Amino acid sequence: MNPKIPAPLSDLAAQLGKLPGMGPKSAMRIVMTLLAWPEERTRQLGQSISELRDRLHICSRCGGLATSEVCAVCADPERTQETLCLVADWDSMMTLDSGGFYRGQYLILGGLLNPLEHRDSSSLHIGRLERRLQEGVVKELIFALGATVEADNTAVYLSDLMRAKYPAIGVSRLAQGIPLGGEVKHMDAETLRQSLKYRQRFSG
Ligand SMILES: [Zn+2]
Repeated sequence: MNPKIPAPLSDLAAQLGKLPGMGPKSAMRIVMTLLAWPEERTRQLGQSISELRDRLHICSRCGGLATSEVCAVCADPERTQETLCLVADWDSMMTLDSGGFYRGQYLILGGLLNPLEHRDSSSLHIGRLERRLQEGVVKELIFALGATVEADNTAVYLSDLMRAKYPAIGVSRLAQGIPLGGEVKHMDAETLRQSLKYRQRFSG
């Protein structure tokens, strides 16, 4: 940083510059914008940033972000308690839920198994999943972990584990294969292999 720039400006620009997609130039542009704003507005932004962690809780049911002990999704009495959808992270839960077509429960695993990044089963919230299944209410566990090698390995590992411990609970996964609007000739071999493996009966 240029030593002629006063420290309060260069310090803030240096911190903003650590945000994803933000270079030193755009960071400084934001600092200048904040200075040009009415003082109250700039202070409010600062307050929101400093309160971010204080005002957020981890939902005791699903492990998602919430403003109270139980999040709005888990607290919704209209949703069925019998299906539990397992997702890798909170973003996935929000994306799935924004469609409004799934009206069951969620549980956030906190990542996927990945030996190359040294993420083993101890890094996942398996205890949270077990506590939930032990309640005896869930009848179906849906794996919605994605279509990567890591997602596949995690789903296989967990479904074996859960099937052995809770044989009465049905285990399913999101369908994998050709996306809506996709043509067979444009698909890669792996997508076609999965599509064939998880083919479904034509019910018309
Ligand atoms: Zn929740």
